Amino acid sequence: MPLIYLDNNSTTPIDNRVLEAMMPFLTTEFANANSTHHFGLKAYEAVKDSRKKVAQLIGAEPTEIIFTSCATEAINLAIKGVAISSRNKGNHIITIQTEHQAVLDVCKYLESQGYEVTYIPVKSDGLLDLEKLESQIRNDTILVITMLVNNETGVILPVKEIAEITHKKGALFMSDCTQAVGKIPIDVDNLGIDLLCLSGHKLNAPKGIGSLYVRQRFNRVKIEPLLQGGGHESGLRSGTLNVPGIAALGKACELARIEMAKNASAIKILRDHLEFELLKIKGSSVNGCSKNRLYNTTNILFEGIDSEALILGLSSPKEGEPEIAVSNGSACTSKNIHPSHVLLALGLSETQAFSSIRFSLGKHNTIDEIDITVTLVNKVIQELRSLSIN
Ligand code: PLP
Repeated sequence: MPLIYLDNNSTTPIDNRVLEAMMPFLTTEFANANSTHHFGLKAYEAVKDSRKKVAQLIGAEPTEIIFTSCATEAINLAIKGVAISSRNKGNHIITIQTEHQAVLDVCKYLESQGYEVTYIPVKSDGLLDLEKLESQIRNDTILVITMLVNNETGVILPVKEIAEITHKKGALFMSDCTQAVGKIPIDVDNLGIDLLCLSGHKLNAPKGIGSLYVRQRFNRVKIEPLLQGGGHESGLRSGTLNVPGIAALGKACELARIEMAKNASAIKILRDHLEFELLKIKGSSVNGCSKNRLYNTTNILFEGIDSEALILGLSSPKEGEPEIAVSNGSACTSKNIHPSHVLLALGLSETQAFSSIRFSLGKHNTIDEIDITVTLVNKVIQELRSLSIN
């Protein structure tokens, strides 16, 4: 049964060229990148090349790139690393209510360790009141954290302005750019980002590889490592390097940089078409602001529809129909039965949050897939509505 995959904010398929780039390091070129023999040097060169490509995609220097296993690890390293190293400056951290659970849970953990965290609310469009944010920054604030693109709604936050406000008050600024890297241009200097997290599997590289950017130029950011060991990655992330994953991430970053504009315009046309057609369904509306939004995402509320039932209906097709993969909430936490904290923060009721579906498109989607999706969403919703009437 063919699959129409519209859950790209959850994870993406590996690009064949990325797979090709990593294969030698899974097979013949299996050396440890830290070995000094010639065989090891080839792996070391591959890591060096990838570090350059990751840095290039976000306007950083290669020395500022630390490889991790995923964005969650990068987030942990960034937040806890700053919290520990800045303890004598203060113990206050600011973030926003719509951050990914990876950020929120680290903040909750730090609260249990005596840190203080302020969670700034968002408006119904998913954006925030910058004056309110500024008023919360104190002398003992060590870190302000906001994502660049929200994973559930695609809303793009004004990180440049937030970074300016943060720096004016003498704190560091971290941005979880997991959903933005490779999709929109990012320049850490221009945006004023001190620490940035990203993940390979969101940009057509495999799972198990991520990265943390730590500013070394201008104001050098000091973070405490969380893993002690062989002192890899400038002492910030000990552990033998995942050379195949790193080679894959480098290739994915290179491809994203070269093909970003082309992918963006093609995906936007598909997303806009999908959204336009789905908004014809009675009781449907877009969650989050439509204007400042990533071109691949639409999060739609279908009033009166149980999103789990809709997801199930779309992914259990009848004879001859394709399976459609969509999601209702954060991919990494979607196995839980709580309503989306992001949608609740936007002011939706629990019932409305449970009636919302995220469609997130990728570079492999086609117009035919979108047309089939529109037809099948209409069909399943009609079936569900007739069931609830009877
Ligand atoms: N941050 C955001 C915004 C995400 O969307 C995700 C994954 O969905 C993560 C962090 C965690 O990424 P990873 O799976 O690489 O740990």
